[in-house]
Order: sequence, then C-alpha cells, then structure tokens
Amino acid sequence: MYVVYILLSADNSYYTGLTNDFEKRIWQHETGFFPECYTFKRRPLKLLWHTIVNSTEKANSLERQIKGWSRKKKEALINNNIEELKRLSKQKKESAKALRQAQGRIDYLIVGQGISGTWLSYYLQKENKSFIVIDNNESITPSKVSAGIINPVTGRRMVKVWMAEEILPFAWDAYNEIGNFLDIAAISQKNLVDFFPNPHQRQVFLERIDEGDEYLHSYPEQNQFNQFFNYDLGCGEIRHCYTVHLENMLPAWRLHLKNNDQLLEEEFDLEKLMITGKHVAYKDLRAEKIIFCDGLSSFENRYFKQLPFAPNKGEVLIVEIPGLPGQHIYKKGFVLAPLAAENLFWFGSNYQWSFSHADPTREFYEQGERHLKTWLKLPFKIIEHKASLRPATLERRPFIGLHPHQKNIGILNGMGTKGCSLAPYFADQLVQHLLYDKAIDPLAGIDRFQKILSKQ
Ligand SMILES: Cc1cc2nc3c(=O)[nH]c(=O)nc-3n(C[C@H](O)[C@H](O)[C@H](O)COP(=O)(O)OP(=O)(O)OC[C@H]3O[C@@H](n4cnc5c(N)ncnc54)[C@H](O)[C@@H]3O)c2cc1C
Repeated sequence: MYVVYILLSADNSYYTGLTNDFEKRIWQHETGFFPECYTFKRRPLKLLWHTIVNSTEKANSLERQIKGWSRKKKEALINNNIEELKRLSKQKKESAKALRQAQGRIDYLIVGQGISGTWLSYYLQKENKSFIVIDNNESITPSKVSAGIINPVTGRRMVKVWMAEEILPFAWDAYNEIGNFLDIAAISQKNLVDFFPNPHQRQVFLERIDEGDEYLHSYPEQNQFNQFFNYDLGCGEIRHCYTVHLENMLPAWRLHLKNNDQLLEEEFDLEKLMITGKHVAYKDLRAEKIIFCDGLSSFENRYFKQLPFAPNKGEVLIVEIPGLPGQHIYKKGFVLAPLAAENLFWFGSNYQWSFSHADPTREFYEQGERHLKTWLKLPFKIIEHKASLRPATLERRPFIGLHPHQKNIGILNGMGTKGCSLAPYFADQLVQHLLYDKAIDPLAGIDRFQKILSKQ
C-alpha cells in the first residue's frame, strides 16, 4: 500500500511525496532525516493532503502528475474542489496550445530529453532562447538506466579520461548549478573504493600511484571494509569521482519543461519534418533549427545514420543492501553505486559490442547474483534488472554540431559510456557555436564527417 501526500513547507511552498511507510516518512520529514531532501531546509512542515493507492505504478504516476500541477490546482485538490480541478485542467490544455500558436516560431526544436537534451535545453534557456523539447517518455533509455558515475580514470591501465582537466570541473559546476536551479541534489562526490580483482590490477594501481597519479591513492587501513566485503587482494581509492543523481534530475527538468509548456510528450516522426528554406517545420511548430538528442534513434535518422555509431549493450541490477554505507562507490570488476533512495544500489555493468537483442538476459542476472554473493558479506535483495544500449561511437568521441549540408539540422549525441561528464560540456559548446559561432572541438565536431554526411 502506498500513500501520496502534500506537505506545506515553512516557505509556503508545497512538497508532493510518495511512500510505502507513511508514519515513518512523515517522521523523517519532520526530523530532517534526509539532508538532501527538498523539505530539509524548509521545516517546520504541515501535512495538508494524502491519499492511499494500492499499486506502485498508480502511486508513481499520481505523484508525478501532482508534482506537475500549478499551485492553484494543488489547492483545489487539497480543498477537495473537484469542479475547480476540472476547470483548471481544461484551462491549462487551452493555454498550452495558445502559447505554442502565439509563439508561432520558436528558435529551437530539440528531440529527446535524456542527459543530452536536458543539458542542451538548459543552456538554451540560460541564453533566453525559445525551444520545445519533444520526448516520447520511454521508460528504459540509457539515461534512465545509467549509474550516473563520473570517474576520472578509465580502462585496465587506469589512465586519465579524455579532457579530464576541462570536462570534470565543468561537470561538477554544471550539475551543482542545475541542482540549485531545480532545488534538488543533482550530484555528489563519492570516491571509489577499488577492490583489486586480481594481482595484475593491483600491480597496475600501485604503479600508477608511484608514477604520481593525482586521482589514485592507497588506503593505509586496508581492513576498514572488512565487515561489508570479501577482498583478499586489498583495495585502493580513486578520488574525484562523482555520482550524478539522474533519478532526481531528469524528472525535475522534465517537470520544469512541462510547467513552462516547453515539452511535447510524444513520439517524434521524422517523416513530418519539413525543411523550408532557412527554417524547419514540424506539425504546427516552426523553428530556426532542430537538434537531435535522441540517442539511438539518430542511428536510423536519414540525416545522421552515416555516422559511425557503435551501440554498446549494458545490463544492470538494482539491489537493496541494508547496512552498506552509501558514501562510496565500490568496485570489484563490477561496480556498486549508491542511488538516491536509502539502501538502494546500482550494480553493473557489462559492455557488449555484439548482441542479438537489447533485453535483459538470464546470464547477466545469474552472473551478477553470483558475484554479489561472493563479494558481499551483507544480505541483499535484487529488486530490478534492466538493460539498455549506450549510444557509443567507433572512435569513442561524441557527435556534435550542425549537419555540414543542412545547416538547420544539428546533433548532440554519441556520448557512449560517459554521457554524464560529456553532455554538459558539449551541450554548452554547441550552444556557444549556435549563438556566437564559437568553434566546436574538432575531435567531437561532426564536421570531421563532412564527406560521409554528403551521402544521404
Ligand atoms: C547500463 C549503462 C550504464 C551506464 N552508466 C553510465 C555512467 O555511470 N556514467 C556515465 O557517464 N554514463 C553512463 N552510461 C552512458 C549514458 O547513459 C549515456 O551516455 C547517456 O545516457 C546518453 O544520453 P543521451 O541523452 O545522449 O541519450 P538517451 O539517454 O538515449 O536519450 C534520448 C532521449 O530521446 C528520446 N527519444 C528517442 N527517440 C525519440 C523519438 N523518436 N521521439 C521522441 N523521443 C525520442 C528517448 O526516449 C530519450 O529520452 C551508461 C549507459 C548504460 C546503458
């Protein structure tokens, strides 16, 4: 049984929440149990409304729906004024339509609200540009399946990631900025505990420390994780790792777009896109440009399908592990990363360049379960199993910019395994290019594919 509720905060704002333990959750709000929660700094609180719902789906959908409502509409619900609720719903539909018609022409149409579309629309908003984001609200996308980890080192040789010095500090500032704007926790610094899976990896790690790597450190106290994990070969620490709370950020930005009539929740149909001279037209919308941030869909898009995309499949388990501290990311071959909800961890992932379907497999589930049983000393429960295809590219560099032969069509894609760090940096670069003609990094710009993009 679930309860959806509305609280009045000390600053007179409303907070809508969902729980399966109502009394405990109200106590947690009142005592400030979760410092990152919206209500933490807005206490004391008053419970204004609640209702009981008996399925997770219905409860989630009701919570999302109410969160998207105006203050007036929430007040109508709190006061049980059904007539007023109906009237406001009708008015909202009409005003959204009217706004789009009045806008007539907008600056940008953006297809996709994953990590890339979110950042592109955020930076366009900062520049006061008008835009509409079209997103089909698929429940499984790489952005929704991702662990949100930003790790400064990569690969078996533990080398620094591409453009680490520019991209990582940029990402940290960007996520904090959007978090402040949306009043959510968007990023946390969580250093990674690397339990060496074999003697060779241990040797590589220690050699990189001797070479003076700024991110890798040894733990003087090797036994400190003994009560939680089995590890015979010791562990090291990777500093400057972050987790992006995509489960907070993507719905919060979506809600912001919805409340501002900047979101069309539907499937984009490329057949209905018309290029009219210097503009693009899509159904009743006219825009200066259209930018595709639609991940895997661009692989099929006639303007961009020639780009050397190379999808990579990854599977994930969502695991409940009561008692495992959430301050770190843990790794031993696979990664365990804390999620925003208490006791929940993301476990994954594998990297498959060759696969026959995009669905979760029994093999991964069993492999993951075996791995957790030998690694963890704590009891755990697997509560979800998901799979998705990373929009990766053959050269492992993103695809950014305007089509060399269709200047009102652009792309922000190919984020591969590193969407969380690359997307804010390159979305900003794309906006600077669109508005001020600033250069896009040649290793990421699609101008490098001029020739193959001339073949449609
Ligand atoms: C298992 C796994 C683990 C990962 N872990 C990490 C990690 O820890 N750190 C990291 O940085 N990256 C990670 N990634 C990679 C990261 O998720 C991707 O790089 C990133 O999500 C790509 O974002 P995107 O917005 O470009 O694309 P997407 O996430 O694919 O977003 C595209 C959006 O467009 C919408 N869309 C598509 N077609 C249409 C259409 N026709 N009409 C309307 N809407 C449409 C989709 O519904 C979606 O919302 C992981 C990926 C996977 C699969």
